Amino acid sequence: MNIEQRMHNSKRIFGEFGGVNPSIHPSTTFTTLKPETMQKMFNGELEEAGCYLYGRHFHPNSLQTGMLMAAIENTEIAYPVSSGMVAITTTIRQIFKDGGHLVSSSEIYGGSYALFKNVLPKQNIDISFCAPNDIDQILEMTNDKTKAIYLEMHSNPNLKVPDLLTLKDFLKERGQNPKIIIDNTFTPLTYTPKNLGADIIIHSGTKFLNGMSDFVSGMICCSHQFLNELMDLNDGELMLSGPVLDPISSWKMHQNLHTLPLRIKEHSARAEELTFMLDEQQKFKIIYPGLTSHPDHESINEQFNPRFGYGGILAIDLETQTNAEKFVENCQNQGLALNAVSLGYYETLMSISKSSTSSEIDENTMKENKLSDGLVRISLGYFGDLEDQIEKYYNILNKI
Ligand code: PLP
Repeated sequence: MNIEQRMHNSKRIFGEFGGVNPSIHPSTTFTTLKPETMQKMFNGELEEAGCYLYGRHFHPNSLQTGMLMAAIENTEIAYPVSSGMVAITTTIRQIFKDGGHLVSSSEIYGGSYALFKNVLPKQNIDISFCAPNDIDQILEMTNDKTKAIYLEMHSNPNLKVPDLLTLKDFLKERGQNPKIIIDNTFTPLTYTPKNLGADIIIHSGTKFLNGMSDFVSGMICCSHQFLNELMDLNDGELMLSGPVLDPISSWKMHQNLHTLPLRIKEHSARAEELTFMLDEQQKFKIIYPGLTSHPDHESINEQFNPRFGYGGILAIDLETQTNAEKFVENCQNQGLALNAVSLGYYETLMSISKSSTSSEIDENTMKENKLSDGLVRISLGYFGDLEDQIEKYYNILNKI
């Protein structure tokens, strides 16, 4: 079944008065009507949807949004939380309650890297950092104590891509079964990591999922079993810390997820067109997974969902910080983009990675990952006349 059909089949919920949209349910507590029902809930005996207890656990709007998100990622369930970082920390803390070994890509969002490098080792968790697309290295680092492997589907910001299909096959051959956690923030719909062997898919919902840059959120897409662990009354990370996304934001996310397929197709189509034009100009190196020159292009083609394209993010290597600053400033002055972090907005957002969203990564790792001083990450929006924009980009680059 294709993704849009899965979304369509996700449970239809009408508003309280028959509204075509669901209602918002801003209640922190819910009556169970019968006292024995409450006792059963505390005993973990009642699982059917509709039995709500307390707003820190989940509420009608979080459940509705989670079900739609699960349809998108093809997981059993999904749980909306208050940020992407919460999705990451909660998941990691649950899996590594009593320590263990984590293999993580070293080319990940700077905040995730800082958490893994600076915080987790103090909590009895050993970390090995790998190149995101080097399966041999990942396998070399993985041992019987490895509880999880953490990768971004398009690494931030060089857009390297792990070959999950091969990784899963090799792990199986070796009888190893670490949880594969994928951060799919850059590429919702472009990949369905669950179908490629991932166990848990994480998102910063702040980005493409919501698409409006108006609130911060995250998603944990997983099995019922893992969500039950997270919700355990006695040691569940979600249960005990309470980062559930609030009803109003959950409702907004639910609304906006319905347009995700249309938005992603448009982001991707525009990014592809711009990329090919700028690549032909041969002035600066363009990084985009859709280019045949991309080092992982072959494995990308085996893994992605072609109907959604190669995603809305590209990068240009302008070689020096000064060039990058000149480029970003000109783009902003000519109304092409906003110099802002984040991504997945309808306007184009761009930032110089090394001095912003990757600045937490240590100098040696940046060198190993070939993170250039002049790398500008572009999240291409879908507003404005693309032909006109391409001409402007072309002229700006020509003058640098
Ligand atoms: N993962 C990726 C790939 C990101 O780019 C970000 C944020 O920029 C995060 C996770 C963290 O998400 P949030 O800012 O919603 O906490």
